[in-house]
Amino acid sequence: MTNQTSTRVSQRLAALQPSATLAVDAKAKALKAAGEPVIGFGAGEPDFPTPAHIVDAAVAAARDPKNHKYTLAKGLAELRQAISDKTFADAGYRVDPEDIIVTNGGKQAVYQACVALIDPDDEVIIPAPYWTTYPEVVRLCAGTPVEVFSGAEHDYKITVDQLEAARTPRTKALILCSPSNPTGSVYSAEEVTAIGKWALETGVWVITDEIYQHLIYDGEMSYLLACVPELRDQTIVVNGVAKTYAMTGWRVGWMHGPSDVMKKVANFESHITSNVANVSQRAAIAALTGDQSVVEEMKVAFDRRRKTLVSMLREITGFTVPTPRGAFYVFAHVGDLLGWEIRGRQIQTSAELAELILDEAQVAVVPGEAFGAPEHLRFSYALGDDDLVTGAQRLQELFRTV
Ligand code: PMP
Repeated sequence: MTNQTSTRVSQRLAALQPSATLAVDAKAKALKAAGEPVIGFGAGEPDFPTPAHIVDAAVAAARDPKNHKYTLAKGLAELRQAISDKTFADAGYRVDPEDIIVTNGGKQAVYQACVALIDPDDEVIIPAPYWTTYPEVVRLCAGTPVEVFSGAEHDYKITVDQLEAARTPRTKALILCSPSNPTGSVYSAEEVTAIGKWALETGVWVITDEIYQHLIYDGEMSYLLACVPELRDQTIVVNGVAKTYAMTGWRVGWMHGPSDVMKKVANFESHITSNVANVSQRAAIAALTGDQSVVEEMKVAFDRRRKTLVSMLREITGFTVPTPRGAFYVFAHVGDLLGWEIRGRQIQTSAELAELILDEAQVAVVPGEAFGAPEHLRFSYALGDDDLVTGAQRLQELFRTV
């Protein structure tokens, strides 16, 4: 007998797991469409509409026939200049616009960074808890993800000692994410510098995902290439407009890195997507060059929700809730609730707990298994204040009766 799945699709695709975060969101949206009063803490997606001046720029762009055409695979020159200027303004270093590639979201940038660096059997160190896409993409590139876990006692941040212990002759790269999805942890300048120096000494490449750079509530952003400029020749930076400007649906991200590597990546992009939608690129120009006060306004709202959610979840017995400093996620440890019977169900894993929460409280959360961190639940607080409070109250109610 043949294995149907393995004969019909490649082994690489057969092994690929669906995005757990999108799966939770899809289930919550389906329940909502069916009339269930579901509250979604699942998606990492701001609830705000994209600011009006950005939408206006896109509407004007859509009416201009020059934007009805392909652009260069690496993106519009104007947008790459805007990204270069913004990088200088934020991080204090210059990037040649020729070394910037515009991508369909930060997600494509992560994928292309891996395609650019990984040969079969290369190892890539992924600090866990990690964003769910990283290991899948490494495997898609025939590489081996090497998870290095750090728990709440270390603020979910890895140390150089841990990295060194995980390094082998096959280690090609490290994927760093600060502020972190899913934990909200933010690496300090000292920590980033130590990791950068380790990479420099060992020759390990770094893919640094800085997509949450503007969402820090407590402390400030430390940019890897500002901390360790010498690392430039072995670093790929990933970023995008999705989180900062409430533009998840527009699909604009970017990457920059050494010229020789970016040239090859542009060739690759020319074959797989040609370019990012021209109108979306025009919207991204408006986002990066326009009024930045919109970013601050959204940040104030996220900060308020962060505090509310942390304090409400802390009232639940069995939840241990560190205060996240960045991004828009609360990562709660729920190990104390596992191994018990709750509402007639035996709950052994955080995946089962998340299922129970959805069924019994109509609240969608993402189980820690998706991030290499069983015993945890991730709550996105990028949803409206009222929904957030109602959702947290339902959880308090559910676990009060446990
Ligand atoms: N990196 C991280 C850490 C993320 O959380 C996300 C979105 N969930 C992305 C990259 C990709 O974002 P997008 O493709 O929407 O730009």
